[in-house]
Amino acid sequence: MDYQAVLEEVADRARPLVRQGRVADYIPALERVSPDRFGIALTDIHGETYGVGDWEVPFSVQSISKAFSLALVLAQEDQSIWKRVGREPSGTPFNSLVQLEWEQGIPRNPFLNSGALVVTDRLQTLTGDASTALLDFMREESGNPELSFDQAVAGSEAEHGNRNAALAHFMASFGNLENPVPSVIEHYFWQCSIEMSCRDLATAGGFLARHGLRADGTRLLHARDAKRMNAVMLTCGTYDAAGEFAYRVGLPAKSGVGGGIVAVVPGRCTLCVWSPGLDARGNSVAGAAALDHFTTLTGWSVF
Ligand code: GLU
Repeated sequence: MDYQAVLEEVADRARPLVRQGRVADYIPALERVSPDRFGIALTDIHGETYGVGDWEVPFSVQSISKAFSLALVLAQEDQSIWKRVGREPSGTPFNSLVQLEWEQGIPRNPFLNSGALVVTDRLQTLTGDASTALLDFMREESGNPELSFDQAVAGSEAEHGNRNAALAHFMASFGNLENPVPSVIEHYFWQCSIEMSCRDLATAGGFLARHGLRADGTRLLHARDAKRMNAVMLTCGTYDAAGEFAYRVGLPAKSGVGGGIVAVVPGRCTLCVWSPGLDARGNSVAGAAALDHFTTLTGWSVF
């Protein structure tokens, strides 16, 4: 497979959709990103990376971080996180409170904000510094020691963080947090504010395509946990549109409101696409179209 040629064709087809949708505006620091950006990168299971467009420009990973913090928790302890967070699609928006009350403070899945707060809480208990542990992991797996937090984004998240604070307090009231709420939300905001490029994310997500093996060949996750993570990404990774995304693209994926989407072809490669214009559900319009073209051109979906 000539990956470079495939990515170029995918980019040509998706580019007319760049500027469609809306750039995330819930915090001022994200609103300033140019809607003209488009990049796509692919890292094969041997670590070779290919890219097109703005594939080396860093952007805010936002909710994509939720997949990586889950992987770090699963790497450190077997299955206990699943007692505190479910793995069903929610049918509610990513920051919704209503279901939490019905379900006694147990979030439906780890990719809702509530679920990610529980995962960050556990990572904080396991490491003593959840956001730094995540940043170190991202640096190592991407091979880019320069990765860092975007201070402006982290500050803005905290300033506009009432909803996340509410989710955390609500879960704490059900006994589903181990650490104080202020520390959990702070680490969560830092984790969302990590800046990475498509190249960095496609490379860092390689373990999901390698059935749990890290870039250096050592094992991060049991193969069964890599399979399970991919399954939860497929069913819950693209906000309230995971059904539509599976229908169109057919790959496990995790999106973020920074406009990035990481997608996995198990056994072959990991992709990351970025374009900031979001659809009404929070997924990149041009990014989802690019992945749709990719699986159509290559025939590589999980179905
Ligand atoms: N930082 C965002 C929030 O917690 C998450 C954004 C996302 O879904 O990508 O509201």
